Formats: sequence, C-alpha cells, structure tokens
Amino acid sequence: MRAITTNSVAQQQQQQQLSQRRRSKSFVVEQQQQQQRRRRKRTQISIQTKAMTSGEKVQKSDAEWKKELTSQQYQVLRLKGTEPARTGEYDKFYPSEGHFVCAGCGNPLYSAESKFNSGCGWPAFDKCYEGSVGTNVDNSFGMRRVEIVCAKCDGHLGHVFENEGFTPTAERHCVNSVSVKYVEGKCDQNEAKVIDGTSIAGGAQNALSMLIRPALYFTIGYTALNVVAHSASSFMTRSAQ
Ligand SMILES: [Zn+2]
Repeated sequence: MRAITTNSVAQQQQQQQLSQRRRSKSFVVEQQQQQQRRRRKRTQISIQTKAMTSGEKVQKSDAEWKKELTSQQYQVLRLKGTEPARTGEYDKFYPSEGHFVCAGCGNPLYSAESKFNSGCGWPAFDKCYEGSVGTNVDNSFGMRRVEIVCAKCDGHLGHVFENEGFTPTAERHCVNSVSVKYVEGKCDQNEAKVIDGTSIAGGAQNALSMLIRPALYFTIGYTALNVVAHSASSFMTRSAQ
C-alpha cells in the first residue's frame, strides 16, 4: 500500500516536470530543430534517388506488363526467367553501330561496341550506359550471383560476372536477348562498369596498369638478380685471387 502511494507520488512529480519542460522555451526550440533535421534528411534522400535513377521510374501493374509484352518477354523481364542458351535473337549478332534498349521501357542500356563474343550462349556486354542498369544480389538455386535489372522499369536483364579476363573492363553482362531490343543510331551517353561505376576511361587505365605492372616487376626482378650475380662473381674472383 505504501509502495503504491510512493509510486503514484513519483509519477505525479514526473508528470509535473514533463509539463514544465513542455512549457519551457528550450523544449520548443529543440522540437523545431528536430523537425528541421527530419525535413533536411527527407530532401537529401529524394535528391540521391533522383540522381541514381536519372529520370522517372516506369511503374506498371502486372496486368499492364502482361498486355504490353510477349509471353516470353513477360517470363524473363517480369518473372526473372532465362531464355534457353544459344536460342536468342542477339546471341550471335554483332552490329558495328547502334545500341540496345530495354525491351520493356526503351531505356538505352548497351552500345553495339560493348557487345563481345563470350561463347556462353547469351548476348554479352562488357559495360553499360552510366546509371542505366541496377544490380541485386541473387541467392536462388544455391548460388550467389549478381542480378542485373533495367534501372528505369526494374525489368530482369540477366546476371553480371566479374574478373573472367574477357575484356579490359573485366565485366560480363550476361543478358537475355528477349530483355533487349537493337536500335540503329548512336546513343550519346557515357559508359561505365555496373559493379563499381568506374567509367570506361578508368577501365582503360586498369588495362594499362595490368600491362605495365608485370613489366615493372619483371624489370625490378631482373635488375636485382643481375646485381646479386655480379656481386657474387666479383666476390668469387677476389677469393680466388
Ligand atoms: Zn526498362
């Protein structure tokens, strides 16, 4: 009984303190500052999202996609399916100019120059237009792969693989033919790697460093070996004398 009374007295004191604090000027200022901080954070997030997607997202209902796409396109783009290997329209198609856009929304994805022969049975590209492709980690079928999607409509394109040594960018975008459409004419956009966003200039530098570094190591090793051999031979000559 005494404990209850003590408790209720303590509660009353707390409530009084709280109402006093609410009335105090500092509490009001604190609340205003918190609101400002929250507002600023919301603005920053919306700016970041806009910069990443570079344009409005295409959002359609399942019924709309079903109506617009062929059944194979719907299976691959919307349900993340895979077309059978070596059957795609663009598997062995290597145009000298033009580019590839998303079959779902027309977003330019890959230049004709970025397409290369990987022999894997699906169209392969070693870079994409900057910001046009998004990635998701895909843990299906007991494997860890990186899924690639159209950044505008989230349509499934395929998967990206790294460090296989095909081209200087060390990226292979393994793309379903039905996910893309070939379009004639140049698309004037910067190209980049999708994993770390390195531009192709960076890719070329990497390629250069890949060649220069071994040559440098070889020269240093060769010189060091010569110095050691020379010192050894002069020591042996001196010992013989
Ligand atoms: Zn798209």
